[in-house]
Amino acid sequence: MGNNNQIDYAFKVKAGEKIKLHEYDPNFTSGLKKEDAAAHFAKYSAELEELQELLIASGSHSVLVVLQGMDTSGKDGTIRHVMSTLNPQGCRVTSFKVPTANEQAHDFLWRIHLETPQKGVIGIFNRSHYEDVLVVPVHGLKPEEDVERYYDHINNFERLLADSGTIILKFFLHISKKEQLARLKERELNPSKRWKMSVADYKERELWDTYQRYYGEALSRCSTSHAPWWIVPADAKWYRNLAVAETLVEHLRPYRDKWKKALDERGQAAIKELQAARARGEINNNHS
Ligand code: ADP
Repeated sequence: MGNNNQIDYAFKVKAGEKIKLHEYDPNFTSGLKKEDAAAHFAKYSAELEELQELLIASGSHSVLVVLQGMDTSGKDGTIRHVMSTLNPQGCRVTSFKVPTANEQAHDFLWRIHLETPQKGVIGIFNRSHYEDVLVVPVHGLKPEEDVERYYDHINNFERLLADSGTIILKFFLHISKKEQLARLKERELNPSKRWKMSVADYKERELWDTYQRYYGEALSRCSTSHAPWWIVPADAKWYRNLAVAETLVEHLRPYRDKWKKALDERGQAAIKELQAARARGEINNNHS
């Protein structure tokens, strides 16, 4: 594994790096034990909450979190656990399904652009524009030459978002084929989880290697300094949550001082305005 690319728990794909997913162990846990992880996770959750408050208040950036992974890789679970401490007013989760007729009648990024987060907001994409270079070529839904052009379109689109103040983090939740089978079986055996089951999941599973190849392609061609991909070992759910939380915090922390400064300046301006209004007698100072 490319240990030099690791902040700590997840693996950053360097721009231009050729990724071979089989070289990354989905069961990697960085020598941590589940019982030790809880305290680390709590620490990152608290810091994430604090950073989100600054993000909302300073209003200078937005954050886009893209979650991709094979069926059962834990996209929903990551949202539930990692984002649970966030202020819902500053979050927007979008799940991308098979495009509707209206969406099909537009370019593939149209529906995506409509859902990008405004300043102050953390947008979470449960699946994303990457489906167009994953499920689409795996099933041959569009001509190969179209898909071939999508990689550049995606990079340009993400560049536009980043240039407009969006901090982009893309997570590939990396599970093993064995772990996927265990999770599918668990759904089958557990009555409270059966609603999640579908025949399609088993059919898609047969295309595992093709999916992995296209994931490798997307990660290799669309990881940039302004919109990096992170490979998250995701067989252990607790490790997956910790890795995503840690990466988010490490990525947002450098903005803290800037956001704090913007917030202080806004506070100062508001006080000055209030004092001026009082001096002009526009505000009654004798509140009863
Ligand atoms: P999930 O599996 O994310 O919980 P669904 O079972 O509704 O939710 O699956 C959504 C489906 O939509 C997936 O099979 C996914 O591959 C498909 N999908 C998403 N985007 C596209 C797209 N652009 N083209 C074709 N299929 C897509």
